[in-house]
Amino acid sequence: MDNAEKVTQVTRRPYRNTDMTMPRLGFGMMRLPEKDGKVDEETAEKMVAKAMAAGCNYFDTAYMYHDGESERFVGRVLSKYPRESYYLTTKMPIVMMKSEADNERIFNEQLERTRAGYFDFYFMHWLNETHWEKAKQFKTLDFMKKMQAEGKIRRLGFSFHGELETLKKIAESYPWELVQIQLNYLDWELCRSKEQYDVLTKLGIPVSVMEPLKGGTLVRLSPEAKKVFEKANPNVSAASWGLRYVASLPNVQIVLSGMSALEQMEDNLRTFSPFEPLTDAEQKVIAEALAAYRKSGAVPCTGCRYCSPCPVGVDIPRNLALLNQVKGGLPLFHAKLVYDAMSEDKRASSCVACGACKKKCPQSIDIPKYMKEIADTFK
Ligand code: SF4
Ligand code: SF4
Repeated sequence: MDNAEKVTQVTRRPYRNTDMTMPRLGFGMMRLPEKDGKVDEETAEKMVAKAMAAGCNYFDTAYMYHDGESERFVGRVLSKYPRESYYLTTKMPIVMMKSEADNERIFNEQLERTRAGYFDFYFMHWLNETHWEKAKQFKTLDFMKKMQAEGKIRRLGFSFHGELETLKKIAESYPWELVQIQLNYLDWELCRSKEQYDVLTKLGIPVSVMEPLKGGTLVRLSPEAKKVFEKANPNVSAASWGLRYVASLPNVQIVLSGMSALEQMEDNLRTFSPFEPLTDAEQKVIAEALAAYRKSGAVPCTGCRYCSPCPVGVDIPRNLALLNQVKGGLPLFHAKLVYDAMSEDKRASSCVACGACKKKCPQSIDIPKYMKEIADTFK
């Protein structure tokens, strides 16, 4: 790197009591940039290059992300780098499994897609009570242990979207090496994230954070909440506050950000190069912004799409995002233009209140209720 530009490096944290260090910021690959409905590989590859140059070398993908394209993208792009220069995590989609044989079939497909040879971390994806029972029935943990013994997996973990009691049960059942939970300043109390964090910390299990900005919700915020941050420091983004909040927690090993644009990545890299924990005064600013945001009545949708597809075709996250924009001050006239531009089946007014989506939402959002509110708003 003699003549090359010297790139500021992200702060790292040792992994447990080992020589291994991990960047405080990881690249979540569930929201890669898109163009014409497909992954915009040109931009995404530039983002990978930028991340790697800054030492942000932890990549988190899953079988289901971008309908499989995320893992394939990893295979096409990360394989250009020496394998030991990056960490890769992917996940077994318990929700899609139909039999025990799927363990091997899906895992081999993941190895083929990612061309990685092995996974630094391998998780059971989206555990909750139902999926944990299914994973036990299909002996997924036994399979993962076997792959670990064969050197195809380095460390085992799971990602979680469920009740606290279930998390406790699963966490205590095995010496997991990393567990991914949703953590951000909005969910800290709202979704009992604090208690989830405490359960894992007590067991000595490092935490990987997903949705630190609640799928962009904590970037968009409400005008009142934004004003609080701008007044405290006009030179930093709302995203940087959210990321620093979670990264300041001592048992957070890594914070994943599902970055969709180069500018987002540049901003996030700035936040972590170097990383500064929040001061007490800054914690108070977050509390103030949160209070202002709650007053706006915005829906805490992360855009994860776990609720989709809707049997009649309603585009749930799109409708909720529009509602949030209205609550955030977008004039109704403008919002209605966007709403009317959606095909009729995608509009909230097509909802037949079957409730199928509500059961699948990790944020426990009462989706049919909001679909009715949206349909009434745009009538
Ligand atoms: S409740 Fe409405 S939005 Fe949800 S799955 Fe049923 S029809 Fe679709
Ligand atoms: S409604 Fe729930 S499941 Fe659907 S996109 Fe939003 S947060 Fe995800």
